[in-house]
Amino acid sequence: MLETSPPEIFDCRTCGACCAHAADWPRFSMETDAELALIPEKFVAKDLSGMLFEAGRCSALTGELGKNAGCAVYAARPHVCRTCMPGDAECIIARQARGYSVDDLPDETVFWDA
Ligand code: SF4
Ligand code: SF4
Repeated sequence: MLETSPPEIFDCRTCGACCAHAADWPRFSMETDAELALIPEKFVAKDLSGMLFEAGRCSALTGELGKNAGCAVYAARPHVCRTCMPGDAECIIARQARGYSVDDLPDETVFWDA
C-alpha cells in the first residue's frame, strides 16, 4: 500500500484509498509473533485479527486521503499491505469506491520484477 511502489511509478501518498476501504482489508495473515510485536497495540484490533479500523479508516493511516496519506507503522505494516500494489485488483476497487481515477495507474506487472 502506501509508499510500496516507487514514487516515480505511482505515488500512493496521493491516495490512501486501500487503507480506508474496509475493516477486514488490513488483516493479519502470515505475520510472525516478532513481526506483530512491532505494531503498537493502539493500532491493533481488539480481536487481534488485524489493524484497528475506526472512523472509516485504518487507525495507522495518517494525513488526508487523496492528498498526503501516510502509514504510521510503515516499516511494520501487515503483509497484506505490502502486497497491495497500485494498479492491482484491490487498488482499483478501493480507488473506484472513492471516485478516484484509475486511468493513470501503472500496469501491476511493472512490479513483478522489481
Ligand atoms: S488504492 Fe492503490 S494507489 Fe491508492 S494507496 Fe492503495 S495501492 Fe496506492
Ligand atoms: S497498516 Fe498502514 S499500509 Fe496498512 S492499511 Fe494501515 S495505514 Fe495502510
